[in-house]
Amino acid sequence: VITEKGNINAEIIINAGGLWAREVGKLSGINLPVQPMEHHYLVTESIPELKERGKEMRIPVGTDFDGNIYFRQEGYGMLLGTYEPRATPWQVKATPQNFGHELLEPKLENIQDRLAIGFKRIPALEKAGIKNIVNGPFTFGPDGNPLIGPVPGIKNYWVAVGVMAGFCQAGGVGKCIAEWIIDGEPSIDVWAMDIARFGNYASPDYGTVKSSENYERRFIMTFPNETLPKGRKQKTTSLYDRLVARGAVMGDSFGLENALWFSKNPKDAHEEPTFKRSRSHDYV
Ligand SMILES: Cc1cc2nc3c(=O)[nH]c(=O)nc-3n(C[C@H](O)[C@H](O)[C@H](O)COP(=O)(O)OP(=O)(O)OC[C@H]3O[C@@H](n4cnc5c(N)ncnc54)[C@H](O)[C@@H]3O)c2cc1C
Repeated sequence: VITEKGNINAEIIINAGGLWAREVGKLSGINLPVQPMEHHYLVTESIPELKERGKEMRIPVGTDFDGNIYFRQEGYGMLLGTYEPRATPWQVKATPQNFGHELLEPKLENIQDRLAIGFKRIPALEKAGIKNIVNGPFTFGPDGNPLIGPVPGIKNYWVAVGVMAGFCQAGGVGKCIAEWIIDGEPSIDVWAMDIARFGNYASPDYGTVKSSENYERRFIMTFPNETLPKGRKQKTTSLYDRLVARGAVMGDSFGLENALWFSKNPKDAHEEPTFKRSRSHDYV
């Protein structure tokens, strides 16, 4: 590693650059498909109902899947965060080198619909004063999971990036990477986080589009075999148009569009994600 203050000889380099992961990657000619996203949460003043319960009786952490909201007790108040229905990618081109993890200007208009759902779910919140509103950026990967492990094709260059929930994920990510380096593989299957699940098709633009899609779906139920619409057609075969014309319902695998099953015609070619038998059952 060549720095202004001298060279450092390292057997292995791990890019854990967080908000600057893209910039650190570029130093080695790697374009990582990760994107910082703006994120809001608020903290309320004390709520009498919580105060009455006393110090020992904290309420559990919760998630409201309808509202894309998470909440937990903070002192005698509540912390309520939301994954906004329309994501706001932050510094799409590059994270400024002089950014010091400062907070951003809150955009209440982006979260008011979700807050209304939160107030309905927890009526005590409606009467509580708001002590603090926070807006800050954190880094997402295209499918919402971190990207970790050795970068294919670049010897001894590792990443631990797109760690969007660093407080909860960092311990596991660190442990897996340590095992991977020392023992040759992690002690659990980390394919869902392995950077090798993405290929060259996963460009920075792809990262911005897909990270935004995943941000908006953070607490939305994912169904078996569900395919998501954004950032598609990264790669197609010469048969693509003919397959679609025949009513193919397309999926993507490692960026390549492929026919999952055939419906009656192109208009009929859609899936309805479910935990039960999906539309494909009647056709296949
Ligand atoms: C509003 C908000 C709410 C959040 N809520 C939660 C939550 O409830 N739960 C949760 O788990 N997470 C939460 N997070 C996310 C959490 O803060 C991040 O996931 C975590 O900080 C990511 O850690 P990191 O080390 O990967 O990256 P960062 O914290 O961005 O750290 C990257 C480091 O790399 C250094 N660096 C950059 N460039 C270079 C270079 N060229 N050379 C050397 N060093 C360099 C930087 O100085 C920095 O110290 C929240 C974030 C925000 C903004």
